[in-house]
Order: sequence, then structure tokens, then C-alpha cells
Amino acid sequence: MPKTIKKVGVLTSGGDSPGMNAAIRSVVRTCAYHNIECIGIYRGYQGMIEGDFKEMGPRSVNNIVNKGGTILKSARSLEFKTPEGRKKAHENLTKAGIDALVVIGGDGTFTGGLLFNTEFNFPVMGIPGTIDNDIFGTSHTLGYDTALNTVVDVIDKIRDTASSHNRLFFVEVMGRDAGHIALNAGIGAGAEEILIPEEDLGLDRLLESLQKSKASGKSSSIVVIAEGDKIGKNVFELKDYVEANLPEYDVRVSVLGHMQRGGSPSCFDRVLASRLGVKAVESLIEGKSNYMVGLQNDKVSLTPLEQAIKGKTEIDRELLRVSDIMST
Ligand code: ATP
Repeated sequence: MPKTIKKVGVLTSGGDSPGMNAAIRSVVRTCAYHNIECIGIYRGYQGMIEGDFKEMGPRSVNNIVNKGGTILKSARSLEFKTPEGRKKAHENLTKAGIDALVVIGGDGTFTGGLLFNTEFNFPVMGIPGTIDNDIFGTSHTLGYDTALNTVVDVIDKIRDTASSHNRLFFVEVMGRDAGHIALNAGIGAGAEEILIPEEDLGLDRLLESLQKSKASGKSSSIVVIAEGDKIGKNVFELKDYVEANLPEYDVRVSVLGHMQRGGSPSCFDRVLASRLGVKAVESLIEGKSNYMVGLQNDKVSLTPLEQAIKGKTEIDRELLRVSDIMST
């Protein structure tokens, strides 16, 4: 018989992402629906160590489904990486009567959660919240869809300037290890070239492509570059290189930065957050632990946290071909 869960703690940790609030709301209301108490833990694992807790009921999550960021705040806690820190956190949870955790964050958050479970046999479920979409076991992480829409919206605006001045724009988007944002937003915004960490197109190929597009009558172009692309130059060095080799181009750089992490979540992210929150709480009630809830083939699924942490996500290579064809 699984242990009966009476009180669930929920926290957000690592980088914030749009949809985290909708997920908190879903966890809190699913707990209320099943007559389970819910405690909000502030500032991720650091709040667990400091006992920064607040009781939450269905009305404490009113009007947050549409808000970016996280009302529970997020933090990166070095202390939680130490056995002493985790011991303090466990003592606080026990004192508060919390008997299960839902952790919303990225792979670091899941690593911490899994370790905590191993040390204290404490039930943990993870919800993937990061705009990079780089977590194994889910086709979408919370915030990814919103970030894509933000990036496309901004590039549309940049395009107005690019075409008015016959300029080439290099737009750097987030994605140190994964090119999902660059690839999808690049296609959506009609980029000429897309540079991503998973694929080294090489500088020659970039120059060739820009020359080809000039020759074919294009007077302005947009190149989308993931911050972690493997070409070996940062976006400003890339601008200098292209201007040195193709003097006919006037290159401008736009680094989108943290704006990609903010804003009101898209409908997709709100629905996803609601579904994942329900599944996380109901899985705990069923006695499950150490899983990440995610989306696979449009269905909510469970992936062992260990796999979610270790597994590598792949880009859809078909999208590279589509992008090539679209820039003809
Ligand atoms: P993002 O993808 O936005 O970076 P993340 O969840 O990967 O999100 P991290 O900063 O890597 O963000 O991890 C969040 C927190 O999880 C850390 O601040 C730390 O408290 C905890 N954590 C990460 N790795 C470990 C670990 N090896 N052991 C214990 N706790 C960890």
C-alpha cells in the first residue's frame, strides 16, 4: 500500500519560465480537489532549507494563470548541494508535515529532487519548466511555446527595419546547448539561416548562403543564432567576419536576452501547465515517485527522473531541411 499523501509542497527552481504560475495553480487546485493540503515553498530549495513556507488554497492562486515568472520566486541554492543543506530542508518539511514534493524546474532541479528522494525516501515529482525545451521525456517544456512566440514577434519587428534599410540582421536567441528555439522561431520568422549548437554549418556555408540570397534579389536578411552555436565565434565576431568578407552587407546585431523568459504564457503553455500539475499530484496520490510528468505524442506521460536528467533531446532534422528549402 502506498503511503497516504496528506500534504504536498510545491516549489519553482532554476531559471523561471512562463507557465510556472499556471503549474503552481494547477498543483494547488488539484490538491484541494483531492482534499490534500498544499504548501508553497518560496525560492526553490533555498526556501526549503530556510523553512520559507506558506499554506496555499484554491483562492491563493487566483489571477495567476496569465502571469509570467513565478509567484513562489525561484533561486539557485548552493546550500542544497550539500548533505547538511538537504538535511535541514528535510527537517523543515517534516516539521511542517509535508509528505511529498512537486518540483518545477530544469534538470538541475530534478537532480536535486532525485538526490533528496534517495537520501530521505521522500516522494518527488518533477514538472519541466524551462524555455530551452532541452529535457528528455517531453516534447514541450513549460515556457518553450511562449518563448517561441516572443521571439517570432520580435523578429517580425526587426524585419521591418531590415527591409527598410536593406540590412542584414543577426539575431541571437537563447539556447546554450539546444537549438530548439532558434530552429523553430527561425523558420516561423522566415530566417535566411539558422545557426544552432547541434549543427556546425561552418562559416563558408554562411557566406555562401548570404551571397546566394543577395544574387537572387534579396535586399535584406535575418540570420537567427542560438547563443551556444558551434561556429566558434560570438555574434559580434560573426558580424565582423561577415562584413570583412562581404563588404556589401551592413550587418546589425540584436541580442534578445532575458525578454525571451518573460511575458504572459501562451494558451498552449497554460493548458500544458494545467495538465502536468494534475498528473503530478495524482501520481503522488497513487504512490508514484521520482518521475517527471511531460507530454509525449500529445498525451501526458511519466518519465523516470533519472532518464529525464540523463537523456539527450534531439532536434528534428527535418526542420533543418525545411529551413534550407524556405531560404531558397
Ligand atoms: P535551468 O534549466 O533554468 O538552468 P535548472 O533546474 O537546471 O533550471 P539549476 O540552477 O541547474 O537550474 O538547478 C536548480 C537548483 O537545483 C540548484 O540551485 C540547486 O539548488 C539544485 N541542484 C542542482 N544540481 C544539484 C545537485 N547536483 N545536487 C543537489 N541539488 C542540485
